[in-house]
Amino acid sequence: MVFTHDVLVIGGGAAGLMCAATAAGNGRNVLVIEHANRVGKKILMSGGGRCNFTNTGTTPANYLSSNPHFCRSALARYTPRDFIDLVEKHRIAYHEKELGQLFCDDSSKQIVAMLLAECAQAGARIATSCSVDRVQQQDTGGYAVHTSQGVFSAPSLVIASGGLSIPSMGASGFGFALAKQFGHTVLPTRAGLVPLTLSGRPQEQLADLAGVALPVRATSGKTAFENAMLVTHRGISGPAILQISSYWQPGQPLHLDLLPGRDALEVLQQQRTERPAAELKTVLSDLLPRRFALRLCEHWLPNRPMKQFNEPQLRQAADLLRAWPLVASGTEGYRTAEVTLGGVETREISQATFESKRAPGLHFIGEVLDVTGWLGGYNFQWAWASGHAAGMAV
Ligand SMILES: Cc1cc2nc3c(=O)[nH]c(=O)nc-3n(C[C@H](O)[C@H](O)[C@H](O)COP(=O)(O)OP(=O)(O)OC[C@H]3O[C@@H](n4cnc5c(N)ncnc54)[C@H](O)[C@@H]3O)c2cc1C
Repeated sequence: MVFTHDVLVIGGGAAGLMCAATAAGNGRNVLVIEHANRVGKKILMSGGGRCNFTNTGTTPANYLSSNPHFCRSALARYTPRDFIDLVEKHRIAYHEKELGQLFCDDSSKQIVAMLLAECAQAGARIATSCSVDRVQQQDTGGYAVHTSQGVFSAPSLVIASGGLSIPSMGASGFGFALAKQFGHTVLPTRAGLVPLTLSGRPQEQLADLAGVALPVRATSGKTAFENAMLVTHRGISGPAILQISSYWQPGQPLHLDLLPGRDALEVLQQQRTERPAAELKTVLSDLLPRRFALRLCEHWLPNRPMKQFNEPQLRQAADLLRAWPLVASGTEGYRTAEVTLGGVETREISQATFESKRAPGLHFIGEVLDVTGWLGGYNFQWAWASGHAAGMAV
């Protein structure tokens, strides 16, 4: 027996639930097929359990894609304000943490409950623990999805199965394989918003500082982010490093300004004038976490009284503080990455409807597409915006 719907959505995450609620709200008969035992697992674990659900400063410039203009239309049609209105309608208390990042005051469970309530009210059905065996294009048009709970068919099929990050939360390569099945190009994928690992000497020199955090400006190529860095047992993490990880490529140099927003040379010159007898490690201990400053002076900077630094030597020390070179050996990979870079080539997808240009009735939304946001609520905003656009179109 085949169960017929207007719209099938594969993946009950952020984008899929938004799409289902929107399409059902427009009177469509919608079924969400989710292989995990519950929907929205990534929403639940996001933002440290408080879900950084949007960013009020969202613009297309906050996204990485080989086709940077693709996200523009959907982001303009469903804005952070639209999602905030929904959050307020459900009386979910929220606050801005920093840089336009909005979090629930209480729990990310509220966002999942809100999306489920929207789906239920609009009449969208959800099948959990439902695994997809295969997807077929029907001769009569539309798609048949063969699952562990029967065969479902619909003229519109929306792929909202996300990326590869955190496989233990249900992530799978399903969407990429399906895109290829229907003739789509899938751009190479890699882990993004992910801690960087160190190996060899730099790892030995820093490992026992795990837990030390400091503000930095991390630069890779032409891109830089200023925020906190955290030393970990395996390397470096923290918002500045997660952000730059999406731009960093293996083998590329990474430079860290350890006194962001300050002129390192001016700072050192002033210290030499004011505290000529103080050693560099003492001076730096007042500017940086003490253990980190001491370690810098053990391995990277010469330690001696400030008055013994001549101008070129002071300049050299300032250069190192301004652009401390670290060679990352890699990333922690999908096990801890927040997002997947790359994915379904957006030039083969309509930016208005998210419909495939290769297979009529097939849509791709959310992280499965080659659109990846910065850290800070941008990825959920993309999920809401692309889910909403497809939900309006199907
Ligand atoms: C730890 C962590 C914290 C994060 N915090 C934030 C944050 O605070 N703010 C932010 O903006 N972004 C955050 N992100 C990123 C954000 O979670 C994702 O970008 C977003 O969830 C992508 O939405 P999506 O609907 O495309 O995919 P997902 O939310 O991943 O949903 C995909 C769904 O499809 C299901 N699925 C996969 N394969 C199949 C299959 N074969 N059959 C059926 N179902 C399938 C999955 O189980 C899942 O439920 C975080 C990510 C992680 C990992």
